[in-house]
Amino acid sequence: MHINYDEDARSTGRLLDESKAVMSGHFVGVSGKHLNTYVAKDRGTRLATVASELCRMLALRFADEAIDAVVSPAVGGVALSQWGGYHLTRLARSAGKNVLSLYCEHEQQVVATYGGDYVFPELDGAVKLQPGETLVVIKPSFVLKRGFAADISGRRVVVFEDVLTTGASAAASVSAVQAAGGIVVGVGVLVNGGSVTADKLGAPRLEALLTVDRKVLTEEECAAKGGMCYDNIPVRTDFGHGAHFLAKQFTSLGRLRVESGGQ
Ligand SMILES: [Zn+2]
Repeated sequence: MHINYDEDARSTGRLLDESKAVMSGHFVGVSGKHLNTYVAKDRGTRLATVASELCRMLALRFADEAIDAVVSPAVGGVALSQWGGYHLTRLARSAGKNVLSLYCEHEQQVVATYGGDYVFPELDGAVKLQPGETLVVIKPSFVLKRGFAADISGRRVVVFEDVLTTGASAAASVSAVQAAGGIVVGVGVLVNGGSVTADKLGAPRLEALLTVDRKVLTEEECAAKGGMCYDNIPVRTDFGHGAHFLAKQFTSLGRLRVESGGQ
């Protein structure tokens, strides 16, 4: 099957651009890294035609791999899993084969219930639970629930993810598939924005529709000469974790204040 990689990159860039999913500026990512380009993937997938077209291009890359299921990390990746499964099913060689659309989600641990014991005694009293409430810790690791683990045991799986920055959630998804006994054939992403390699994800193959060369800086690097914080470029608070980053900074400077009353 002939794939024109340059054409894919151009189309992906155009689709993400048209859906205003790619922005330039000074952003703070979910990982806490400072970025000069932000990919708001949800702005792309809220347009079903855009999500479908992007996943069709990605599905073509794995069309010869006899894929049984697509797994994506919830919540953001669910649209990719749906459209990925749809297009891989249409591309499947064997008639009547349905490629499953599945997702993994963050592992959670109930650490306390109302009126019950705390798993971590130091939390006792620190958190006041009301009747019917439970205290849950959401872990960075992913797990396949809802019977999905049995669906992929011994089956060929591709992981679809939107944007790679550090690659942490893609790597955690690969681990979740492997823990469920699935065979990870590869990882397909819309945008590789952090020079992430297949090796780093623990996958044999990594396919990216678009590779974005962007600055990914730690807080310290951004504050040093050449960084965007150093140059006093305002942090965007409308996307990513910029607001959280600024709030933290203000608190440490003692400049945070709460006002009540009129405007
Ligand atoms: Zn910065």
